[in-house]
Amino acid sequence: MSLEKATAIVLRVVHWSESSYVLTLFTRELGKISAVAKGARRPKGPFDAALDLLALCKVVFVRKTSGALDVLTEAKLVRCFRVRALGLGALNAGYYVAELLNELTDEYDPHPVLFDVAEAALLRLGGAAASAVATAAGAIAPAAEVLRFELLALRELGYLPTLEECVECGRPVAADGRVAFGLLSGGVLCRDCRPGKRQVVSLSRQSWQTLVAFARPDEAWRQTPLSREVRGEVRGAMGQFIAGIIGHEPQVAAYLER
Ligand SMILES: [Zn+2]
Repeated sequence: MSLEKATAIVLRVVHWSESSYVLTLFTRELGKISAVAKGARRPKGPFDAALDLLALCKVVFVRKTSGALDVLTEAKLVRCFRVRALGLGALNAGYYVAELLNELTDEYDPHPVLFDVAEAALLRLGGAAASAVATAAGAIAPAAEVLRFELLALRELGYLPTLEECVECGRPVAADGRVAFGLLSGGVLCRDCRPGKRQVVSLSRQSWQTLVAFARPDEAWRQTPLSREVRGEVRGAMGQFIAGIIGHEPQVAAYLER
């Protein structure tokens, strides 16, 4: 047993007993943890409002060995991401970020860069920083945030598909026509490598170029518009690709804007 301090995003809150919750937290310092918060459901409990879904908080907890749940002893709210205030699109996008963090990471496997990426995405979803993609059709912003977060998370965790050249042979994909995205191959395929591959999604050139722009570490994604057609196609491809990694379709995926 040891006492740990960490900065955490609340990913999941499950009722545990009449007075307690079990929480899944993504911490910057230690990665994902599961901890019981005793007394958290009592009015004037020891944790205040710090344990809401998507809250950013400073926590202190007792780290257990031998597979027992960690025990939260303190939680102090740092920031409440105001995704609820911005409507269902932002709220579901926020829930999706939490679900991906939970599904794609392992306990006690820290990824501080991913933590910062998630925090920034939730801040923008909450309207703290105006996104350049949030044009007059403001509803586009959550879809852009989701795609950007997915690709940065995949990059950080080593799952990013090869998008800029053929995943098999490294040559450029065709200069015209649709682009084949091999879900099992882990990237786009040129015309020579495409035959015989299973689970291949066909992308329009625009959808493919959108994925390329959003996956780059730079800020090219902010200048890349997401039309309705591109959004639908890209959501379908990303949903299937991520399902292949985590073993099932993410639950919140069905509620994301297409
Ligand atoms: Zn090839």
